Amino acid sequence: MKEVALLYDADYFLGRSQNLYNYLTSIYRDLHQFPELSFQEKRTSSKVAEELKKMGIEVKEKIGGYGVIGNLKGAKEKPLIALRADMDALPIHEETNLPFSSQHRGIMHACGHDAHTAILLGTAQILSEIKDQLSSSVRFIFQPAEEVNEGAKAMISEGVVDEVDEIYGLHNLPILETGKVAVKSGAMMGSVDKIEISVIGNGGHGAIPDMSIDPIVASSAIIQGIQSIVSREISPFEPVVITIGSIHGGSSYNVIPNEVKIEGTVRTLNLQTQRKIEGRLRELIENVAKSYRCSVKIKHINMVPPLVNWEDNVDCVKKAASQIVGENNCMEAQPVLAGEDFSLYLQRKPGAFFWLGCKPKKEEEVFGLHHPKYRIDESCIPLGSAILAMLVYMRISEIL
Ligand SMILES: [Zn+2]
Ligand SMILES: [Zn+2]
Repeated sequence: MKEVALLYDADYFLGRSQNLYNYLTSIYRDLHQFPELSFQEKRTSSKVAEELKKMGIEVKEKIGGYGVIGNLKGAKEKPLIALRADMDALPIHEETNLPFSSQHRGIMHACGHDAHTAILLGTAQILSEIKDQLSSSVRFIFQPAEEVNEGAKAMISEGVVDEVDEIYGLHNLPILETGKVAVKSGAMMGSVDKIEISVIGNGGHGAIPDMSIDPIVASSAIIQGIQSIVSREISPFEPVVITIGSIHGGSSYNVIPNEVKIEGTVRTLNLQTQRKIEGRLRELIENVAKSYRCSVKIKHINMVPPLVNWEDNVDCVKKAASQIVGENNCMEAQPVLAGEDFSLYLQRKPGAFFWLGCKPKKEEEVFGLHHPKYRIDESCIPLGSAILAMLVYMRISEIL
């Protein structure tokens, strides 16, 4: 870090974010009450656009669905730093009993994307107030449809990061105390593949199996066999998960069905391993099915690659976050195999993604992401805004 006196320091950004506490929690609670599913974020995105316009930020709407971008122009166009928040909710029925619980039956912000949206609006507000002092420009990306791993792809295909030099994002984390941040360079989150398998036999009477070809027995051999790829073909030091999450076949105890449908997911931290498993799954499934006289149809979908943080940008996050929360509260993140489509931005542009602690103070209020009782400690919201504002300010002032 260069020894340059900052016109705006951590106290400034912390102070501004604390002053915005009521504004930010009211945005957060409003979004929480009216959650919208992936690619249906109509109300959320118009609220975001409306708030950005009030700040005097140039807004573009309906990008890759209901995506919104805000461009805050500094003295120069470049370097252009992007910050991304996701906006979608989940098909979960909320059970928090919060006074601002979901008004949309069966839909809930159980992944905290409402908080991400509020945080980024806070950052936009703070930076818009000092835009005359910004030496280059900032882009705020409000992305739809993260939960279905489609939103980043849709926005990238519309060119939202073409001009961008660096990109940053965050995710709230309920197991990390509020006031803490966790990040790591390299692979931090898993790839996401979906596999759909149809095992096709020849149905018949359950008492006359010799006149049929049984896809249920073949499917059980396939499911057992798949796990040997993890245990026998991948280094024990490499994290890999193959989970079969759904199997459907047959309708009666005494009938051999024609077909069994199986669905599962593959997670890794390594692009080569992701490709290797895809090939081996296909070989194993086809050959096991054949040995049971069944035919098979396989659809293997690479949804997102592993999320791999760029080392230099992780350093920037650590330095900026340390200014806001203190060095001792910046932790080294443990990798997880959950996926995050922010990985697609990081495949194209340097940047980093980090965890923001949001653990509620009462232990009985702590639930995992995607849980129907999920809740956050709202004080993480202004903190998140301050960290992102500090990061951008330090970065474009060439202090980091
Ligand atoms: Zn989620
Ligand atoms: Zn999420």
